[in-house]
Amino acid sequence: MSMYFDNAGTTAIKPEVMEAVLPYLAGYYGNASSIHAVGRDARKAVENARAQVAAAIHAKPEEIYFTAGGTESDNWAVKGTAFAHCEKGKHIITSAIEHHAVLHSCQWLQKQGFDITYLPVDAHGLVSLADVEAAIRPDTILISIMMANNEIGAIQPVAEIGALAKAHKVLFHTDAVQAVGAVPIDVGALGVDMLSLSGHKIYGVKGVGALYIRQGVRIDSLLHGGAQERGRRAGTENLPAIVGLGAAIELITQDIESHVLRLIKKRDRLIGGILTAIPHTRLNGHPTRRLPGNVNVSVDYIEGEALLLRLDLAGFQASSGSACTSGSLDPSHVLLAIGLSHEAAHGSLRLSVGDFNTEQDVDELLAVLPGIVQSLRDMSPMYQNRS
Ligand SMILES: *Cc1c(COP(=O)(O)O)cnc(C)c1O
Repeated sequence: MSMYFDNAGTTAIKPEVMEAVLPYLAGYYGNASSIHAVGRDARKAVENARAQVAAAIHAKPEEIYFTAGGTESDNWAVKGTAFAHCEKGKHIITSAIEHHAVLHSCQWLQKQGFDITYLPVDAHGLVSLADVEAAIRPDTILISIMMANNEIGAIQPVAEIGALAKAHKVLFHTDAVQAVGAVPIDVGALGVDMLSLSGHKIYGVKGVGALYIRQGVRIDSLLHGGAQERGRRAGTENLPAIVGLGAAIELITQDIESHVLRLIKKRDRLIGGILTAIPHTRLNGHPTRRLPGNVNVSVDYIEGEALLLRLDLAGFQASSGSACTSGSLDPSHVLLAIGLSHEAAHGSLRLSVGDFNTEQDVDELLAVLPGIVQSLRDMSPMYQNRS
């Protein structure tokens, strides 16, 4: 399991998180909305987790709303803002490299008559502040730009975008699912009105996340029913997962500096090792404004999927820039947006380092990767016919 280099896809649960969660699977089964003693124990645990999430991003506990994950948080921020503010306007600004939870929400809103601007990014994957400002119109109601990209690791100038949004009185949402534990987050300093996060990318439980909504920001609910989450998100709270999110976010943010350094060391050895040992490879994303665990390289003359399967056989789990594992053969929209050709996007490899990867794993991966790439190239007509 330690040969798992797909931590941007999901992470293994940390023992400390497991320890926090287990009592809420085994013993504490209360419904946090019940007023009896069993319910009150559950309520206490939910509110404790809310305080932990709030502290991690320097928000107030009453600004944290638990959801079923990053996807729901993104959907809620985008659609909830759209519906609450459509009388002011129907224009939303986002970027071409957002997670599909934001992009597909925007595309769905287009069908409801909203107008979406998809900002391009430069070759390193960064949006330009001038582009953001130029895109703002009198009818703009939301800017949604992610803090850090899940594929290429590019870290956006969120505080600067937040300042622009504030100056133009436009709401600003950021998807910080990948940024938590990698970049210090202070919602006040960043000037964000809404921020999405998720449990399973930070060694927590799957199917839980949170949306930060700044006090006073009006957005519509997506889920209607009971009065949970102060009437804004119906549904009985996922008690064990919420407790796990609280534990996971506290753990990762308390240890953020050393966590980042540990990851950067392994990331940079991987990047250096690959670019040196394997010809016709290039790093995708920004050289420095980059998630500490993210490696994304184009490996010319091969298919990413074939490389993934060979790596998996050798005991290493990775990911690539073509999404055919998820039922589509389309190359990654992120890699296309930074200017890669379809071929280069298909031949990309993402290795995302996490805390469970050891230096020895990195050595072992670097020991086998060049041979695997060469054997795939030896079978590749693209490689034989290269000019
Ligand atoms: C994983 C991810 C999501 C979706 O989160 P889930 O909890 O898996 O629904 C959203 N945005 C980014 C950037 C992600 O990496």
